[in-house]
Amino acid sequence: MIIDGKAVAREIQKQVKEEIEGLKRRWGMVPGLGVVLVGDDPASHLYVRNKEKMCKEVGIRSQEHLLPASVSEKELLSLIHNLNRDKEIHGILVQLPLPAHIRSEKILEAVSPQKDVDGFHPVNQGLLLLGAEGLKPCTPLGIMKLLDSIGCDPKGKNATVVGRSNIVGKPVALMLLARHATVTVCHSRTAQLKDEVGRADILVVAIGKAGLIRGDWIKPGAVVIDVGSNRLPSGKFVGDVEFESAKERASWISPVPGGVGPMTICMLLFNTLRAARESLQRES
Ligand code: NDP
Repeated sequence: MIIDGKAVAREIQKQVKEEIEGLKRRWGMVPGLGVVLVGDDPASHLYVRNKEKMCKEVGIRSQEHLLPASVSEKELLSLIHNLNRDKEIHGILVQLPLPAHIRSEKILEAVSPQKDVDGFHPVNQGLLLLGAEGLKPCTPLGIMKLLDSIGCDPKGKNATVVGRSNIVGKPVALMLLARHATVTVCHSRTAQLKDEVGRADILVVAIGKAGLIRGDWIKPGAVVIDVGSNRLPSGKFVGDVEFESAKERASWISPVPGGVGPMTICMLLFNTLRAARESLQRES
């Protein structure tokens, strides 16, 4: 069966919206998201516009900071520090990639961990490693919600994650481990990728290479989450898994587009609400 990421995202958005209305009614609070965008990369502008539209739909006040590509690291750090101090801003999002003269890790580390709605700060990544509470990265969190939506409990299952990036592969592996899966992480130097894939009851693929995972490698009945987002020369978007053949073997599979993608933005809204709620708790 096909996992309908759009429908799951819509349902979570509805819950986020209701909770935000509750916060407004009871505490007069409007969650605020500071969005920082440097340069004029059209794809980044499109992502930011989509994020703002979604924020508006659920009642989050988004505050956009558009900076020229020539901005210095010092100026950008000063903006982040101001957003960290701003009581009306509960989440900060720095759209990546940043221009080459700015050290991304330095900027991400400057964001207060309590406002780090992307979950990229070393403190939040460390909390995830420890299995402790912290803001979690959006795409992996969305993947876990997709698994929950189909009633897939990772406990005791063989979960294989292909890809070990800090934003998808590693954090989703840790989340699956926290939910008691037996986790294997594969990457570009994995010797027998086909065999590792074939053992997976839950397969999460985040590589960035169209159709690299063949449908006939997949264990019959496996749950397949395809994170890959690849644009073909024809303009069509496809995942990292050969969808047509994989869907014949998988019990559940997430499509591209319409699977993980809608969940990522949705989890940004979820994290912003969470950060706002936690700031209220700290104040009371
Ligand atoms: P990265 O490029 O940071 O990481 C890719 C990973 O894939 C690396 O760990 C790399 O291994 C591994 N890899 C590359 N080639 C192979 C191979 N032949 N066999 C096995 N593993 C391989 O990518 P991201 O994690 O940032 O993103 C992965 C994909 O997910 C991209 O298509 C991206 O666009 C998409 N994405 C989609 C999102 C969404 O919301 N839908 C959000 C985030 C990402 P090594 O470490 O050894 O180099």
